[in-house]
Amino acid sequence: RSSAEKFEFQAEVSRLMDIIINSLYSNKDIFLRELISNASDALDKIRFLSLTDKEVLGEGDDAKLEIQIKLDKENKILSIRDRGIGMTKEDLIKNLGTIAKSGTSAFVEKMQTGGDLNLIGQFGVGFYSVYLVADYVEVISKHNDDKQYVWESKADGAFAISEDIWNEPLGRGTEIRLHLREEAGEYLEESKLKELVKRYSEFINFPIYIWATKEVDVEVPADEDESGEEETTESNPSEEEEVDEEEGEKKPKTKTIKEKTSEWEVLNDVKAIWLRSPKEVTDEEYTKFYRSLSKDFSEEKPLAWSHFSAEGDVEFKAVLYVPPKAPHDLYESYYNSNKSNLKLYVRRVFISDEFDELLPKYLNFLKGLVDSDTLPLNVSREMLQQHSSLKTIKKKLIRKALDMIRRIAEEDPDESNDKEKTDVEGSDKDEKKGQYTKFWNEFGKSIKLGIIEDAGNRNRLAKLLRFESTKSDGKLASLDQYISRMKSGQKDIFYLTGTSKEQLEKSPFLERLKRKNYEVIFFTDPVDEYLMQYLMEYEDKKFQNVSKEGVKLGKDSKEKELKESYKDLSKWWKDTLATENVDSVKVSNRLDQSPCVVVTSKYGWSANMERIMQSQTL
Ligand code: ADP
Ligand code: MG
Repeated sequence: RSSAEKFEFQAEVSRLMDIIINSLYSNKDIFLRELISNASDALDKIRFLSLTDKEVLGEGDDAKLEIQIKLDKENKILSIRDRGIGMTKEDLIKNLGTIAKSGTSAFVEKMQTGGDLNLIGQFGVGFYSVYLVADYVEVISKHNDDKQYVWESKADGAFAISEDIWNEPLGRGTEIRLHLREEAGEYLEESKLKELVKRYSEFINFPIYIWATKEVDVEVPADEDESGEEETTESNPSEEEEVDEEEGEKKPKTKTIKEKTSEWEVLNDVKAIWLRSPKEVTDEEYTKFYRSLSKDFSEEKPLAWSHFSAEGDVEFKAVLYVPPKAPHDLYESYYNSNKSNLKLYVRRVFISDEFDELLPKYLNFLKGLVDSDTLPLNVSREMLQQHSSLKTIKKKLIRKALDMIRRIAEEDPDESNDKEKTDVEGSDKDEKKGQYTKFWNEFGKSIKLGIIEDAGNRNRLAKLLRFESTKSDGKLASLDQYISRMKSGQKDIFYLTGTSKEQLEKSPFLERLKRKNYEVIFFTDPVDEYLMQYLMEYEDKKFQNVSKEGVKLGKDSKEKELKESYKDLSKWWKDTLATENVDSVKVSNRLDQSPCVVVTSKYGWSANMERIMQSQTL
């Protein structure tokens, strides 16, 4: 359109579009669920606004919160339309092309190293998946605060926006028109689209319609002219008479013909899964619901879920999930972002997915949904954020979340010390096998951050802690296992911190402990140093860093004698090293092979902590 205003895509967006266009990725289906998910988001937004201002919805068809899919086979156009919030001109510029979202570069990076296009929605750039199937896309949008505009792009680095003087007024909402590529013809088949909606968008909370064409049998009067024509083509007059006679007997003169009619056909069942009884929901349904909630459409299933309701003063229903994988930026943005992954609904109405009052930061890796009956509907988000019942909800959610995680461990045969239990075979067992290790590798750090941040649940979280140790044999061990293996008379839980297990295994601090058969925990993550400043004890046992002073291994009979005879040497050492370098020089029984070792004081930083602090200031 010549009158259009032209814009260039942000470089990153342009690169992303190139990747998508040139992708040989076979699963092009994903574009549809991304568009439906955007339509659903837009509907959520207008419904939320309507809680405080009914007017925004308009009247008649405009007030119908729905999604419509239409096919135009002749022109090879697939359109998806919603009556959501719509986009102003400024929104179109901002949302579809110019301001690169943080997700764009992260996703481009992922895709260049063989990432999965399936995860596009998780990176907040799902819209651009339209270019998997279309070479030209029009976005027609009408927001209450602006005129109707058309955004269009052939994915050639630029897009254009013009006031819409060509199309029918939308009232409110957005219509995305995909001009399908030659090889994407299958998306003009109703059956294909129906299948896709069933598969990927089953749990969208608004009705999705398709303009479906049906062939129906219709009785129509037999056509006089037609038989007249037949008469003239007939060459044998006697036969002609016979036909006439027969038809004369078959009254009334009607015939059945096939006729095509079209009507809106609804494709999904909008009954919310969380309102159903957990007994009635199948594992497959929970998995599918997880996928639509999290936009994680990888093959992997969630590691666990918990579906429950709370009654009493504060009523709500919730479904929580532990994803199979941590999102790409889980710890990157840990201290700067408050984004929780729970969606908050109030009486079935979506309110927000940016409520940081629902879960503490360290549980941000969970996905799910909370639907509250207690919270007020017609107040602003800010006011809701202050509502007193949120505290109660949060407390319950944490408790349920930690229970759910504990269950992953309990059901995992690899976790059990109990030989009998481990030997039981069965498909369920197979499925649960190794799940906790998987959990730990993805989210272990979150548990550690929880121990640091959540004093009230510290013990519960400590139970979930896993580590390698001098006795764990390459596997992960828990504190409970450690305690069950403690030597008689051993009072403290021993640990050592460092950069790797390999490095720690060579440590002189271990020599004697190992020889005497004490178990020592290896902590090799930088966060472990902080962790151990908060985790002082577990089940009445204190933690002792074996590179610090205070390691007690029972009395050595010759200790006093040795101290006496090495008194002069100790003094010489101390004077030679000078007080600014060492506090004291002591004879000790903690070594076996090495002649001496540098120990840090009880309340000072460990050598490993010094190393971490140094690397942070550099
Ligand atoms: P995400 O949905 O994760 O934000 P997308 O790339 O799918 O990322 O969409 C980008 C943005 O474009 C959305 O955040 C939204 O603001 C806007 N948008 C896309 N589709 C619609 C729509 N149908 N109605 C209103 N806004 C939309
Ligand atoms: Mg989206």
